[in-house]
Amino acid sequence: MKRTNQFDVHPRSAKEREVFVRWLDASASLWNETNYARRQAFLEDDESVWDADTGSLEGKYKGVLSSSVAQQIIRKNSESWRSFFSSNEKFHAGKLDEKPSPPGYWGNEEDGRVLRTYVRNDQYTIEYGNRSRLEIPIGSELKDELGLNRNQRLRVEIAGDPKWDGEQGRLELVYDELADTFRAYQPVAIDDSRLDSLLASEEAALDVGANNLAACTTTTGQQLLYEGRDLFEQFRETTEQIAHYQSLLETQCESSKRIDRLYRKRTNRRNHAQDSLVRDLVERLYDEGVSTLHVGDIKGVLSTHWSPRVNEKTHNFWAYRRFINRLKDVCEEYGITVNEASEAWTSQECPECGERKETVRHEDSLTCPCGFEGHADLVASESFLRRQNNTIGLMARPVYLKWNNHEWREHHNPLSLAVETTANEEYTNQSTATRGNIALGDSDD
Ligand SMILES: [Zn+2]
Repeated sequence: MKRTNQFDVHPRSAKEREVFVRWLDASASLWNETNYARRQAFLEDDESVWDADTGSLEGKYKGVLSSSVAQQIIRKNSESWRSFFSSNEKFHAGKLDEKPSPPGYWGNEEDGRVLRTYVRNDQYTIEYGNRSRLEIPIGSELKDELGLNRNQRLRVEIAGDPKWDGEQGRLELVYDELADTFRAYQPVAIDDSRLDSLLASEEAALDVGANNLAACTTTTGQQLLYEGRDLFEQFRETTEQIAHYQSLLETQCESSKRIDRLYRKRTNRRNHAQDSLVRDLVERLYDEGVSTLHVGDIKGVLSTHWSPRVNEKTHNFWAYRRFINRLKDVCEEYGITVNEASEAWTSQECPECGERKETVRHEDSLTCPCGFEGHADLVASESFLRRQNNTIGLMARPVYLKWNNHEWREHHNPLSLAVETTANEEYTNQSTATRGNIALGDSDD
C-alpha cells in the first residue's frame, strides 16, 4: 500500500524562510525554462522536445537548487511531456474528444502563486522527536548565504505526526504564497502482501460538481461522494465579510490588511480541503486497484444546463483547474493514469434506460419516467464510467464523505437526507458541534 504523511513546515528564521522560498521559486523557474525550450522545439517541424538543452539549464540552476533537485524537476517535466504525447496519440486515434495541451507553466494560479518542488527519495531525511525536522538539499549559493558547509543540508522544523511508516518516496514541498504556508508530502510504501501496483487494472470515473465536490464510481462497484455545502457556506460567509469591509474601505484605509487576511483565509481553507480530498480519493482508488481515472473535461463541468450560479461556484469556489492539476500530481505518485474525456450529457442520463431528455434533476436527485431514482452526481459518475468501460461490478452502498475542517470523514447517509429529518435530535446536536469547530478555526489565523 502507498500512503502519504503530511507535515507543516516551519522555517526557523526570516533568513531561512527567504532562502526556502527562493529555492522553491527557482524550481518553478527551472520548470518554466525547461518547458519553454521544449514547447519551442515542439512547434518546429524538424525538432524534438528531447533535443532541448536541459543540461545547461541544470547547470544554471544547480547553484540554488542542488544538482539532484534540478535533475528531479527536469525529470518531472519529461514525465509530463510523455503523458502529453500519449494523450495526443489517443486523441488522433479518436479515443479522446478534446485535443490535449502541452504541459503548462508553474506558478500561474488564479488566486496567488503556489510553488512546489520535488526531492528524490534518497536525498532527504525526516527525524521525529520533540522537534521534528526535515533535511533537504540546497545549492552551494544558498548554503553560502546561510553559512552552511558544503556537505550540510537545509534543516527545517516540521509539525505533525507521521501517520504511516514505510519506505519513503519522492517528497513534495508546496508553498502557498497567498496563505503563506509551507507543506510537505511524504509518500511511503507500506508492507503489504498484495502486489497491487502490478495487478491494478480497475478504472474509475469522477464527476466534479459544486454542491457535491466530487462523485466517483469505480469498476469494482465502489461509489464515493464528497459533500461540499458546508465548505461553500464558509467560503460565502468570508466573501460577504470581504464585501462588507470593502464597502468601508474609502473611509478606513487601514482595514485593507484585514481584507487581505480574509482573502488568504478563504483561499487557504479551500486549498486545504481540496488537497485533502485529492489525497483521500486517490488513496481509496489505489486500494481498489484502480489504474485509470477518467475525469470530465472543463466543458463538461461548466455545462450549459447548469445555472450561472453553479458555474460560478465551480470556477471561483472550487477552483476547478487547481483541483485537476492537484489530482494529476497525486495520481502520478500512485501510478494512476488520469484520462480527461468528454462527459457531455452524463449528468442527465438515466443509468437504467439511457433516457436523457425526460429525466428530471432536482437538487441532488435524478428521476426518470421509467421509475429510476438516484443521486444525480453518483449517477453521473456511473454513466460516465459505463461510457468508458462496460465491466462494472455490483454496486456497493455509496460512501458519503464530509469535511470537518481537518479531514474527510465517512458518514452513513447522504447529508441532504439528514437535513430533511429535522426531528432527528442527534443530528441537530451534531451540527452545533460542527459550528463550534468553525468558530475555533477562525481564531487560528
Ligand atoms: Zn430511465
